Amino acid sequence: MTSRPPLPAPRWREVARATGLIAPDGSTRPTIFTEMSALARRTGAANLGQGFPDADGPEWVREVAAQAIRDGINQYPPGQGIPALRRAIAAHRQRHYGIVLDPETEVVVTAGATEAITAAVLALAGPGDEVATIEPFYDSHAAAIALAGATHTTVPLVPDDGGFALDLAALDAVVGERTRVIIVNTPHNPTGAVLGRRELEAIADAARRVDAIVVTDEVYEHLLYGGERHTPISTLPGMAERTISISSAGKTFSLTGWKIGWATGPAALMEALLAVKQFLTFSGGAPFQPAIARALAEGDADVEALRRSLEHRRGLLLDGLRAAGLTVVEPGGTYFVCADASPWLTAEMPDGAALARALPELAGVACVPVSAFCLQGSPTATALAPWVRFTFVKDEETIRTAMARLREFAAGRG
Ligand code: GLN
Repeated sequence: MTSRPPLPAPRWREVARATGLIAPDGSTRPTIFTEMSALARRTGAANLGQGFPDADGPEWVREVAAQAIRDGINQYPPGQGIPALRRAIAAHRQRHYGIVLDPETEVVVTAGATEAITAAVLALAGPGDEVATIEPFYDSHAAAIALAGATHTTVPLVPDDGGFALDLAALDAVVGERTRVIIVNTPHNPTGAVLGRRELEAIADAARRVDAIVVTDEVYEHLLYGGERHTPISTLPGMAERTISISSAGKTFSLTGWKIGWATGPAALMEALLAVKQFLTFSGGAPFQPAIARALAEGDADVEALRRSLEHRRGLLLDGLRAAGLTVVEPGGTYFVCADASPWLTAEMPDGAALARALPELAGVACVPVSAFCLQGSPTATALAPWVRFTFVKDEETIRTAMARLREFAAGRG
């Protein structure tokens, strides 16, 4: 009798575990965004959960892509991205931040920022290595670390003066000799925090101290409010050589389904990233690439119009949540507001996760729990257990309807 050799550790289970997506019966669940959007559809709830715009980006940009399809731009683009888009990305970073990049060797186009982050982590970290993120963190960051077989460590954001700030003592304790990569997401999903100079300098110091690479997620870089400014960490002294900066067109131009993102940084790091990226998707988005090249060069007015409109909608959401009795944190960037839902919690609905799953039925509004962005059972998960995230990238009427429903719900609890 020969016994079958044990199956190798199934990586998909590790990914599900790392993202908190193992159900009590052992099956895996879809992401919290997918789950909440499905629940919103089923119940007819106003969907302030998953962050995607309900109005498409500029018509003229979409027309460039449509024309590209008609013109026969439909086969594989170069794996690194078409030259026109790489040049536009470099020009855009120079215009906004004074960063000088060689489009030939220092820019790689990816299938959204998500692919860029995953490729960077897979390229730079493996078993025995640690990858540090801010906590709460975006779910795909944790998934990428699990795919790499690396260990995920976290530096918490803690409440500070009505906002969230990085725990600098924790940063020093967490970043150590095994830390290969530090993922820096600013403007930050889900909290809307925009890291300041002091926080970025502390991260840069930590990275230099242990010789780690910084991988950024800057996809909300242009969606800033109340005079906030975004500083790419690669612009800090000595950081350009150890940073992979990642952003995308999805949020900036309300074209999330096009999945055009990019990574920029020193040639050696781009080579490492591309070595992995070419076997994840090889290349993609042929007709979208020329359209995003034009959008980056000529779309500043559209971005500013979106930003202003979002700032207005942010105000509606903040006012509405306050009127419904919740404590909110004003985001400096992104299109999310986090709220402490403690006043609405009960014995049957003891935390934000239970509330978010019940609220579509109870109140006709969908949101997502902040604990979904935390390591299961971590101190941050415990501290933020009562918190939920609402998005304001929905039309004004949807936000107004949702806020009226929440006020009614809050009043009805009496
Ligand atoms: N980035 C979006 C959010 O934070 C979700 C995208 C997704 O569903 N993967 O809401």
